[in-house]
Amino acid sequence: AAKADGRNALQLFHPDLIGRSREKLEIETALHKALERGELVLHYQPQIEAADGRVRAVEALMRWRRDGALVQPGDFIPVAEETGLIVPMSEWAIGEAARQIAAWRDHHGLDLAVAVNLPSRAFERFDLVEQVREATRSLGLPERALQLEITETALMRNIDQVIPVLHRLTQTGVEIAIDDFGTGYSSLAYLTQLPIRELKIDQSFVRYLGEREQSTAVVTAVIALARSLRLRVVAEGVETPLQEQVLRGLGCDTLQGRRFAPPMPAEDLARWLERGGRATPARDPAG
Ligand code: C2E
Ligand code: MG
Ligand code: MG
Ligand code: MG
Repeated sequence: AAKADGRNALQLFHPDLIGRSREKLEIETALHKALERGELVLHYQPQIEAADGRVRAVEALMRWRRDGALVQPGDFIPVAEETGLIVPMSEWAIGEAARQIAAWRDHHGLDLAVAVNLPSRAFERFDLVEQVREATRSLGLPERALQLEITETALMRNIDQVIPVLHRLTQTGVEIAIDDFGTGYSSLAYLTQLPIRELKIDQSFVRYLGEREQSTAVVTAVIALARSLRLRVVAEGVETPLQEQVLRGLGCDTLQGRRFAPPMPAEDLARWLERGGRATPARDPAG
């Protein structure tokens, strides 16, 4: 490209590349400040039980309030992962999710579990267990109020370091889900040995459900696999009545997607539930 544009034969980097790495550096610096200034927020998306329509858990999805705009995770999580900033950001997310669970309980009488997305780096650290314990215990929450999601790809990439931490986590009561299931390369042998509770079917398979044979075949197989391993199965990215109908017909336990509700700020979620979305009533702490 340097020669072809005929300006400078010694040009080492295409201007686009320089632009991209400078942008990355800018995002990194800005993210650092965002974390310190409290510009990161979690939005929450309900997971609907197919059997009774109730919401027992919500997924926490991170957003960045940057100069009045809401930046989506696709535009900052990859940089956070590359630079390692994802580690303090994950710590923040665990603490924030726990505070929110306590707030829903105390102010709205709601008993909700929150699923937090974590990168594999977080699962390589033994102190993740202490951190989760501390976050729940200090607020009087049961550990099962926090669920953790790790993508299939991240899990398999670091499986040896992750396994012992998974075991210690599940001993405390925290439940683990494999996210974006079907897009990575899980060994079926691992699946039977890992202390996981849930498979989340990737939205790329849900998108053409009922329309494309291959999607329907993959989803059918994942649900059958989950059933025989006694794992819960959640479909994400459910948008249409057809997708819902097919998933229900296949016996999918839990449905998540804009068909039901988008990710929402915590207050909106409480209002949504009060308007008719159904959640399990909080257990009376005295009773
Ligand atoms: P994910 O964990 O698989 O999250 C599901 C994504 O699907 C979310 O995108 C959600 O907003 C989106 N979604 C919800 N309903 C629908 C629907 O009906 N149709 C479609 N097509 N999509 C739907 P989002 O919020 O942009 O997050 C993207 C990814 O970024 C997440 O995928 C997750 O891998 C990552 N992420 C988000 N928050 C965090 C976080 O706090 N920590 C880490 N490490 N990663 C995060
Ligand atoms: Mg997720
Ligand atoms: Mg997911
Ligand atoms: Mg996904």
